Amino acid sequence: MNKKIELAAKNATLEKADIIKILETDEYDECLFKTADAVRKAKKGDVVHIRGIIEFSNICKQNCKYCGIRKDNCSVERYRLSLSEITDFAAHANEKGFKTIVLQSGEDGFFSTEKLVEIIKNIKAMGLALTLSIGEKTTEEYRAYKNAGADRYLLRIETTDKNLYKTLHPNMSFENRMRCLRDLKTLGYETGTGILVGLPGQTAESIANDILFFKELDADMIGLGPFIPAQNTPLEKDAGGTLNQALKVMALTRLLLQDVNIPATTAMETLHPQGRIMALNSGANVIMPNVTEGDYKKKYLLYPGKASVNTSREQTFDETKKMIESIGRTVGTTAGFRYD
Ligand code: SF4
Repeated sequence: MNKKIELAAKNATLEKADIIKILETDEYDECLFKTADAVRKAKKGDVVHIRGIIEFSNICKQNCKYCGIRKDNCSVERYRLSLSEITDFAAHANEKGFKTIVLQSGEDGFFSTEKLVEIIKNIKAMGLALTLSIGEKTTEEYRAYKNAGADRYLLRIETTDKNLYKTLHPNMSFENRMRCLRDLKTLGYETGTGILVGLPGQTAESIANDILFFKELDADMIGLGPFIPAQNTPLEKDAGGTLNQALKVMALTRLLLQDVNIPATTAMETLHPQGRIMALNSGANVIMPNVTEGDYKKKYLLYPGKASVNTSREQTFDETKKMIESIGRTVGTTAGFRYD
């Protein structure tokens, strides 16, 4: 199997049966992580791109069973940032050196197309790259955001197992999720997707299918996080995913989609203080710290114990830079598009 992993570094393919075998045992982990790191270095270099996330609303009309801010979680203190707060946070991140802003929210109908277009234009006027992570929208809405200047869009598929998708997402449709992802690609967004690793009911085979789906979609960014059970959700008593399994899915993704952008996610850091460094050493080339200021960070808890909620925006960029440099890597000075 180690030979197959080394071969995958050359031809970017692995049989589904081999992906399953790798996921089911720890036997090949050392070779997998080392090879994924070598592919990252060859295809993306030693640069790590830092993207600043602004969580501008934790109000959501959906009820995804794993999510801490799902509609039915009455214990969440809800908030929305004003348009000027969002612009101010972006301007501050720009001054600190961020090259990309990621606007993230629940599916909050308050933010009409008109409002979002205004926000997008304000941020684009600062010369920043802009990523949206605001859920399922109509084709026309996606087009309007793109025309206003949005560059990228993140929408995790979460799982390609249709039955599992249905169980986890009441009143949502797998077909619509797919339609959204295809729309985003067609409209010319750099399109990000990904999954939660360790969801109840997920299997090694379904994860292998997920990874092959990333390739079929020709996704530009892949975000992978371990599932961490959130309080006051239907899955609060389920076992969570492990950091090691999430890292393995990430490393396999790097082998098969060699030039894409892959973040070392906050959920990885939540499970281990060195989680993001471990990810950067196993295939990741992006970090996405939170630049939302004040108490808002503490109210956007998709899962408990979320790392860095107590870090101020003054510290965020500098600390992230220090972490990147501590492992001999450098901070990106461009927007870090897939084909830069
Ligand atoms: S995962 Fe996203 S869409 Fe689902 S409940 Fe949470 S914020 Fe809403």
